[in-house]
Amino acid sequence: MIIADKNTKAVDLVRAALDKAKEYEDYHCFISMNEARALDRAREIDERIAKGEKVGRLAGVPYAIKDNYLSPEGVTTAASRMLDNFPSPITATAVAKLEAEGAIMIGRANLDSYAHGSSTENSYFGPTLNAHDKERVAGGSSGGSAAAVALGIVPFALGSDTGGSIRQPASYNGVWGMKPTYGTVSRYGVVAMASSLDTMGCIANSAEDVDLVMGIIAGKDSKDSTTLDDFWNRDLDDAKPKKKKIGIIKDFLKDGVDPEVSKTVLSYADKMKKAGYEVEEISMPIMKYGLAIYYIIQPAEVASNLSRYDGIRYGHRAAEITDLDSIYGKTRDEGFMPENKRRIMVGNFVLSSGFFDAYYLKAQKARTLLINAYNEAFEKYDALLCAVAPAPAFKLGEKTDDPLQMYMEDMMSVLANLAGLPAVAIPAGESKSGLPIGVQLIGPRKSDQVLLNIAKNVEENAQ
Ligand code: GLN
Repeated sequence: MIIADKNTKAVDLVRAALDKAKEYEDYHCFISMNEARALDRAREIDERIAKGEKVGRLAGVPYAIKDNYLSPEGVTTAASRMLDNFPSPITATAVAKLEAEGAIMIGRANLDSYAHGSSTENSYFGPTLNAHDKERVAGGSSGGSAAAVALGIVPFALGSDTGGSIRQPASYNGVWGMKPTYGTVSRYGVVAMASSLDTMGCIANSAEDVDLVMGIIAGKDSKDSTTLDDFWNRDLDDAKPKKKKIGIIKDFLKDGVDPEVSKTVLSYADKMKKAGYEVEEISMPIMKYGLAIYYIIQPAEVASNLSRYDGIRYGHRAAEITDLDSIYGKTRDEGFMPENKRRIMVGNFVLSSGFFDAYYLKAQKARTLLINAYNEAFEKYDALLCAVAPAPAFKLGEKTDDPLQMYMEDMMSVLANLAGLPAVAIPAGESKSGLPIGVQLIGPRKSDQVLLNIAKNVEENAQ
């Protein structure tokens, strides 16, 4: 990415990004722009450069945040009516760290309301279009972030990944997406979805750019007690092929996976072999239960997190309320999208006393078995390879009437979240009709940078 210096003005970088955002307005990548503040910041950085002052590693680089990150000036909506007029009272740690390095937030990107979805069609403000085909979805829930990077509006954007929301839109738009180890990046100042699964990461155009941004936003934060000590930028054992063994998850090469996608996974595996890695297939039968586990645990946590939107403390409050019940009922009815409500209902059902053991408890036990299966696999393999999503981007409206079809999108992406593992989405090819297809490398906890290094190595040495 281009960093401002004596010859490259921050103001020009920011202006170019704002112009492009306007040019591609019909893709609906953004919910709101931050034009005036962005230009002010750019001028300030140019002045500091002119004076020879230190300006940070991302001086003058324009970027977008998913609109579930809180950041000063303007409204954080989480693409919901509930928060459509909610001025951010605080700044998310990740945003504060980027701004401290001179990066300049130009706008808030579109998402599925509260990050519930796989297509950005659940946004209260309408969907984002795919950067490669306007009739198709951008993926989700960080669809606005991914399309903004793919269209070249910004060199990187922040996203959140609870079950694939960084990787799947990255893959649908042909760009890179990093879902880090759980606890790598502070969740402080980001609207909570499902707290044991939520991770903050970024979307960018190369492994190098992802590495740079993640190295800045990672690290311990006293405001999020689940954050890990900073393990980014430590001395790594190298990612050299002779040491590394990769397992292709065999269970995800056939059932429910488009043959064009499987072909892309296998051709990426070939590239890995050419680059010198040892690659073989591994069978992990428990993987097929991932989706069922996720769609019990995640709604349970969503139902708990969304209970705070009661029409009293903050956000939308319905008009013409007559009593306490109608404050809650009408406000939540008006403020939430149908998909939010579906998750609240499922979540409360699986947590209810009559069904808790049958669903929630069982799902937690299965989650432990899944984690054990990964641990076992990582005794033999350094990383695992599979596709990000079962097929390339689908048409707008194709799955909106069928939530289960939409959930099937997430069959391969939710697994890393359930186990707290890092996973990087890599653009790996395209379908016959020219739609991007992504693969993902999943590794043991804290191997985030190793995964990125492997991907870089494959690009450099597979020819
Ligand atoms: N598509 C998944 C879901 O709808 C993941 C969402 C996310 O990662 N925020 O739950």
